[in-house]
Order: sequence, then structure tokens, then C-alpha cells
Amino acid sequence: MLIDFFKHKTECSHEHLRSDLDESYCPDCGALVRNKWYLVRCSCCNIKRKAFAGYEIKPDAKYCPNCGSSDFYIQELDKINFTDINYAVLKRIVVQQPNCHTNQVWVEKEDNLISANKLLELRK
Ligand SMILES: [Zn+2]
Ligand SMILES: [Zn+2]
Repeated sequence: MLIDFFKHKTECSHEHLRSDLDESYCPDCGALVRNKWYLVRCSCCNIKRKAFAGYEIKPDAKYCPNCGSSDFYIQELDKINFTDINYAVLKRIVVQQPNCHTNQVWVEKEDNLISANKLLELRK
């Protein structure tokens, strides 16, 4: 189950997802995905550090360009703003897997339709 879940996660990178909304449905895979913004700051002098989000969020340089410290912390942002956009990193978190129940309902409906038609044929 867990392996399947991670497999699914790597299948779609949700690249066509809107970044201006807190969460929306991915047009490529149908999952409900939440946009999460993070800032990486130096623990020593508190400046914003350039960062990237891979498996985990990390500053792109080992040492702070301002004070030389290698310690950093990650700040979660509620909302992204213009001053942070060059530094903030985006992580996309799947809130809900694609909803397959909609498909099942359709199949059921089709089955009912077929059986209804058959019933009509039998009445003839
Ligand atoms: Zn997707
Ligand atoms: Zn620093």
C-alpha cells in the first residue's frame, strides 16, 4: 500500500497545478494537491537563504553568505508574497488521491441502464 502510494506520487509531478491557489485539483492526475511554501533562514543571522526542495528542503549553499554559519531552519509560510518569492520553495502535498468512486457510479449507472433495456426487451 505504502509503496503504491509513493509510486503514484512520483508518477505525477503536478507541474500544471496552479501555484496561486492554496489547493486545487491537478489537471494531470486528478489528485487534490496543496501548495506549501517554505523559507529557509540562517539560524545565526536570520537572513533568507536560497533554497531548493527535493526530497527535503535544503539551502542551495552549505554556508550562509552573510555570516558563514551552516545552521539553518525552515519556516512555513501561510501565504507567499513578492518579497519572499525569490527565496521561497514550493512543495506540493497530495491531500486526496484521485477520486475513483465517480467512475464506479458511472459503471453502475450503465449497468442499470443495460438491465433496464433488457427488462424492456423481455416485456415485448
Ligand atoms: Zn498531478
Ligand atoms: Zn547567517
